Amino acid sequence: MGDVVSLPESGTDVRLPQPGLLIGEERRVTPQRLEIVDPDTTEVFAEVAAAVPDDVADAIAVARAAQPGWARRSPTDRGAILWEWSRLVERDSEWLATLEARDVGKPLADARRNVGIVIDRLRYFAGAADKSTGVTLPSADEGHVGYTLLEPRGVCAMIMAWNVPTLFAAGSVGPAIAAGNTVIYKPSEVAPLAPLALFELAVEAGVPPGVVNVLLGGPDVGQALAGSRGIDHLSFVGSTATGADVIARSSRNIVPVKIELGGKSPSVVLDDADLATTAANVGRAVVDNAGQNCNAMSRVIAHRGIAADLVEAMREELATVRIGAWHEAAEMGPLVSARQRDRVRGYIEAGQQAGARLVTGGSSAPDSRPVGYYVSPTMFDRVTPEMAIAQEEIFGPVLAVQVVDDDDAAAAAANATPFGLAASVWTRDLSRAHRLIARLDAGQVSVNELGNWAIIGLPFETRKHSGFHKAVGYEAMLEYQRSKAVTINFR
Ligand code: NAD
Repeated sequence: MGDVVSLPESGTDVRLPQPGLLIGEERRVTPQRLEIVDPDTTEVFAEVAAAVPDDVADAIAVARAAQPGWARRSPTDRGAILWEWSRLVERDSEWLATLEARDVGKPLADARRNVGIVIDRLRYFAGAADKSTGVTLPSADEGHVGYTLLEPRGVCAMIMAWNVPTLFAAGSVGPAIAAGNTVIYKPSEVAPLAPLALFELAVEAGVPPGVVNVLLGGPDVGQALAGSRGIDHLSFVGSTATGADVIARSSRNIVPVKIELGGKSPSVVLDDADLATTAANVGRAVVDNAGQNCNAMSRVIAHRGIAADLVEAMREELATVRIGAWHEAAEMGPLVSARQRDRVRGYIEAGQQAGARLVTGGSSAPDSRPVGYYVSPTMFDRVTPEMAIAQEEIFGPVLAVQVVDDDDAAAAAANATPFGLAASVWTRDLSRAHRLIARLDAGQVSVNELGNWAIIGLPFETRKHSGFHKAVGYEAMLEYQRSKAVTINFR
């Protein structure tokens, strides 16, 4: 059993997950410690163990040994275990949401929503486990048959970011184990508690020892895992700079990689958009998770005809955002760490120095929040394409508004960053929307919404410096399988 910490504000106790590494059946507690900080109070509220290189080697050996047996289990059995896991997540959803909210600093309501998506994703992959099949191919020559077999990749290593930790865990481990792989999972050192809890439930659900192994630690553990010869596939979610290093390390061993990186996604607002709806959504695009989402629509590309009205409506919208701690009735919490807050402040100062106009917010903390890693929702207009706030991922509550004269210029501006993650288009004219959809260089495009978790099985691929991968929908099953082409001569 993990420790119990008191949450005075809510008057309840929350159990912490077991703080050790998970290697096969063993809960390994090492002498190294990672301190877990509450971004609202800035105090350490938990500690977990950190791995050393021997732990990495042990986890790989255990995952390797468990893989053939797990792959031999019937896919229906694997699906049933995943379904049971989802049932336990539903049972303990408040526990998981509380851990994610406190660890990352996000409002509890947002963490609850994420845990709901985790349940859906686990069920999706539970159902997919026995439906992922190869194909039978026609032959040009009589007496031959050809078909493909889908086989698991083997031992899959996963190195993850901190911003939506339960979603990453379910979205990558779910399809990987459904397909018969075993996993070594390294959550971010910044927010490992909710993934630890989630994997505790996987064990309770009947995931056999060695199928899911968990290493805790920072970049050194990630480097050791990425550069290991013992893995068959590597999934990474994190920043573009780290992703490049991970690719370099894994390339020496010719390990296939699935790389999900940063973004600088645009909302393109045309001159016929419904201004009130657009401002309420686009204006709040960086409020969710305090802008710490890879797909945050942190740029607004506005038609000149409506730009001034839109900026004013978004300013009014941002003034209503309730800022507060994870356990308060807040809409936006602090940033995850002092480092992240300082980075965001640096971008705000750079925007001002570059000549953008600060419409609202700024680099000082909100008056009501002298403690904690808080930054007010911030918006710049008069942003020009070469500015750092138009080009670089800030990963904080900062919107940058650029003005364009027509749809051609909007498409060009939307595509003019190194990233290609997501985009949204706001218009009443679906013909214009379709023309823009075709021109936007992004893996996901939404019209009159910022995205939609309710669409079941929507795949998630990214482009350019946002990475390359198949994730989230059924395609995630294919990412964790290899195709074997078979021909038979029966003449
Ligand atoms: P990060 O790159 O600092 O760290 C990500 C993970 O990599 C952590 O587990 C970390 O310990 C590990 N790591 C750090 N250096 C490493 C190295 N040299 N070798 C191997 N592992 C290493 O990213 P972060 O700050 O945790 O997360 C924020 C970033 O993640 C943002 O850029 C965001 O856009 C991106 N992100 C992308 C997606 C997506 O799906 N595209 C989703 C969420 C977050």
